[in-house]
Amino acid sequence: MMEQLDKSAIQMDGFFEKISGHEQVMFCNDPATGLKAIIAIHDTTLGPALGGTRMHPYESVEDALEDVLRLSEGMTYKCAAADLDFGGGKAVIIGDPSTDKSPALFRAFGQFVDSLNSRFYTGTDMGTTMDDFVHAMKETNYINGIPEAYGGGGDTSIPTSEGVIYALKATNKHLFGSEKLSERAYAIQGLGKVGFKVCEHLLESGASVYVTDINEKALEEIQAIGRQLKNPVKVEGTDEIYRVDADVFVPCAMGGVLNEETIAELKVKAVVGSANNQLAKEDLIEMLATRDILYAPDYIVNAGGLISVADELYGFNQERVLLKTKAIYSSILEIYEQAKRENMTTLEAADLKCKRTLAEQKNRNNFFSRTKRPKWNFDG
Ligand code: NAD
Repeated sequence: MMEQLDKSAIQMDGFFEKISGHEQVMFCNDPATGLKAIIAIHDTTLGPALGGTRMHPYESVEDALEDVLRLSEGMTYKCAAADLDFGGGKAVIIGDPSTDKSPALFRAFGQFVDSLNSRFYTGTDMGTTMDDFVHAMKETNYINGIPEAYGGGGDTSIPTSEGVIYALKATNKHLFGSEKLSERAYAIQGLGKVGFKVCEHLLESGASVYVTDINEKALEEIQAIGRQLKNPVKVEGTDEIYRVDADVFVPCAMGGVLNEETIAELKVKAVVGSANNQLAKEDLIEMLATRDILYAPDYIVNAGGLISVADELYGFNQERVLLKTKAIYSSILEIYEQAKRENMTTLEAADLKCKRTLAEQKNRNNFFSRTKRPKWNFDG
């Protein structure tokens, strides 16, 4: 018995070490519906934790835990970078999204979210859809990213694409002294919800645009717009897009596209796009720097969607969302300038900016006030 106790004590030590950077990790178990989920709250210095719920058939609880810890920490930085009054959180449901979903499972999940009493707000992520959260919403108000019909902000790709445009302008300003979009050439990878809007904006501004997509229909549509605007689009193959003679590469398709081979091919002076996790490995930022290619940190560039989702908690206002999205311009410029001044990578500069915001707010949180801070006083 004694031996058993000692063993479990050792395991617990390892577990707490793993979650030592997090405020709270909650394991949710509901045998009646088959729900097995983990909710991780990384840091609530800036406000309640905000982050989506991912559903995936993880091979082990350890894999699920690792994912939720990593993703929730990332959310702390994303929120800090976008100047949102939210902390970092994330949830994972262990299960196959195509076979293991049921309304009851999501209602059970909603109850667990509700039990955190506004410490955690969540919505869709990979493997979950708004249809799932309609069930969770019967049990909790702490759901966001909801359809317009339910009072949400709707299509996040609108502010996300606006954010990409601001980041492109800031990049032009830093590299070429003028933010004008029209004077440069761009290579856009992916003409989906975000990439298409970015491309349209660039074509309207008179810029020279190369595009690629695997979706023929999207290519035809953008070519028609180019013809209408008398600014023809240059269509490239999916492998050729890395090699075109443009000023900026704009990845708006999927993650992991910047690897040793593709970085070696790039002729551009900067990479600025909406895709999440563009670098196949984080240390590839060094390779970009060696090749003198400026990298705009993806989580700063694509914050428009998060700004929109966060805004729902105040009662959605499109104008306010676009105003906050505009700040991506100055954020990106500040990061470029600090990286240059202090001879660091743009990812390091972005990291420092977020840490500074968190440290400043930690000091503010020491100041006692009888009333709840209005910004945290959501209707919930
Ligand atoms: P989407 O699915 O609408 O568009 C992706 C596009 O990429 C599609 O047109 C698809 O055909 C194309 N594509 C797929 N494989 C390709 C390939 N090999 N080469 C070229 N094109 C390819 O997605 P989206 O909403 O436009 O988002 C684009 C990226 O931005 C994603 O990485 C997403 O995670 C990220 N992002 C989006 C938002 C948002 O608000 N939509 C917010 C933050 C980040």
